[in-house]
Amino acid sequence: MKWICTAAFLLISRVAMADGCQLNVSATDLMRFEQQTLQVDAQCTEVEVTLHHTGKLPASAMGHDWVLTKTADVASVANAGMNAGLVNNYQKPGDSRIVAATKVIGGGESTTVRFSTAQLDAGVSYSYFCSAPGHFSIMKGRFVLNAASSPAVAKNVAK
Ligand code: ZN
Repeated sequence: MKWICTAAFLLISRVAMADGCQLNVSATDLMRFEQQTLQVDAQCTEVEVTLHHTGKLPASAMGHDWVLTKTADVASVANAGMNAGLVNNYQKPGDSRIVAATKVIGGGESTTVRFSTAQLDAGVSYSYFCSAPGHFSIMKGRFVLNAASSPAVAKNVAK
């Protein structure tokens, strides 16, 4: 998966991490993300997302992950991962449409993924979802680069 490949790069550039680049998202035993939208400052060169499972059920019964793709790819990536099994975090191995993803966790656990915003194309809608079978239709939200600081938007995503 792409996020593994970028891990080394992200460690090097970790000094660039700033406020507004670290996001938290919570998932529950009721098969919900508590956040419908995640906004990241457009000046961030890398983003760190931490998923918290605030429920009590184990990963085998109500496991959740956090997967970022283009909005248009959500359903196809979720369907492709459905048969990959918990061992693969319900993510099709090598699926290049996955921008970033965490592992599947159970209640009381948390997990973090870091990725570079250079992977995000300008003018494209991105969404996050849970790839556990049957979850993505409910467990999804918009991932938005906050355009408030527009000069940085052009600088960061015009590659
Ligand atoms: Zn889920």
